[in-house]
This record gives sequence, C-alpha cells and structure tokens, in this order.
Amino acid sequence: MTAIWLIIPAAGSGKRFSADKPKQYYPLLGKTVLEQTVQRFSERTDVQGIVIAVADDDPWIDTLALPEKVRRVTGGKERVDSVKAALDYVKKHAQADDLVAVHDAARPCIRQSLLDRLFAQARTESAGILPVQMVKETVKRVQKGRVIESLNRDEIALAQTPQVFSLSLLEQALANDVLVTDDASAVELLGLQPRVIDGDSLNLKITVAEDLAIAESNLCRILQEND
Ligand code: C5P
Repeated sequence: MTAIWLIIPAAGSGKRFSADKPKQYYPLLGKTVLEQTVQRFSERTDVQGIVIAVADDDPWIDTLALPEKVRRVTGGKERVDSVKAALDYVKKHAQADDLVAVHDAARPCIRQSLLDRLFAQARTESAGILPVQMVKETVKRVQKGRVIESLNRDEIALAQTPQVFSLSLLEQALANDVLVTDDASAVELLGLQPRVIDGDSLNLKITVAEDLAIAESNLCRILQEND
C-alpha cells in the first residue's frame, strides 16, 4: 500500500494567539496541542513518518513526548519554506509513489474517519485532495470598511487540513517560491484543480486563545466516539 508521510509546519511564532509561546505548546487534555495532533496520526499504520518543522531557536519541542515515527527539521522564514524543509527530509526517505499530507500543528481535532476517507481517495487524485467546509453565512468582499461585493456562497469553501498530494506534485508546486497560506494554493498555481471532500466542523484550527476551550470540547467528543 502507498505510504503516507505527514508534514507538520510548526515554525511560526503564532503572534495572533499569544506573545508568550506558540499555540501548539499550550495544554490540551493533559498533553500539548502538538502532542495531541501528532497522536491522531502516529497510531495509524498507513502513516510511515511524521516530519515536524520547528524554528531553530524553539526551546519547547524537546520537552514533548513524541513517538518514534516523528522526525524534526528546522523550518524556514515563511510557512512554505518550513513545508519545503520537511519535504526535503521526506524525499530522502520515501518511495517515489508515496503520498505527502500537510497538516496544521494547531488542528488536533481530526477524526480518524475523515483521515480514512481522505487517504483512500488521495491515492487516485492526481491534483491532490483536501477537506473543506462550505460556508453557511453570506460572504462579502470588504475593502476599507465597505462592502464592495457579495459572493455566491454556494461556491465558497473554507479549506482545512490535512491536504494530501503525491510527493512529486507537492515538490513541483512548491518549487516556484510561491507565497501561499496552504499547499493546495500552490498546486492551483500550476493550473490544477485539487479535489475537495467534506471536511468536519470539529476540525478547527486553533488561532486565538478562545479556540482552546472549543478544541478541548471537540477533542473530548472525538475521543468519546472512539474516532
Ligand atoms: O500563521 P498560521 O497559523 O497561518 O501558520 C500556519 C502554520 O504554519 C503554523 O503551524 C505555523 O507554525 C507554521 N509556520 C511555519 N513556518 C513559518 C511560519 C508559519 O512552519 N515560517
């Protein structure tokens, strides 16, 4: 079976969350956010290795209890540089037809059933695949405090992670030094259209301090469901 390599970019300073330490090092149900995120993947037999990109002056990573499968690389200036640094490691250890999943460090509330669906379909999607949530609200484009356009919400989706690509596609997409906030965007810039599947409202990205309480409740629910 095609193996999956997981990349977790975690080398940002996370200033939106706190000036104190990056959000992935905050406690969540007896572990750190990052340990919880890693655990959602590390027990899966289809995940061959987990590569975390961290800042070179990160004093917290060494205090975590991370499983054997986890490797650490030094991240870069932007998120995309950190993903590339991790991809360099993966390239040296993976088979040519292995898949690479990129997942936010701050999304610990990921259901195994979503990973099952995503990884199964990823094997046949040449342009990559990602979970999305269609927006429920009316969406406006706003500039300088005024609405300049209302968008058709039936066509607007919020991108989640993990986003899964073939090793060669992700490498090609990131080779162009593109400044993107997710990896699917880099693939889109190649003129390709990644596949989307239904994401999960529990799979939130912890961004501001208030999100920690929501993540705790979401993760409790997932663990109780045994998913
Ligand atoms: O800032 P934002 O939450 O969008 O960052 C997304 C992820 O990218 C975070 O996990 C952050 O640690 C990571 N990142 C990185 N290297 C950077 C900047 C951000 O790995 N230079």
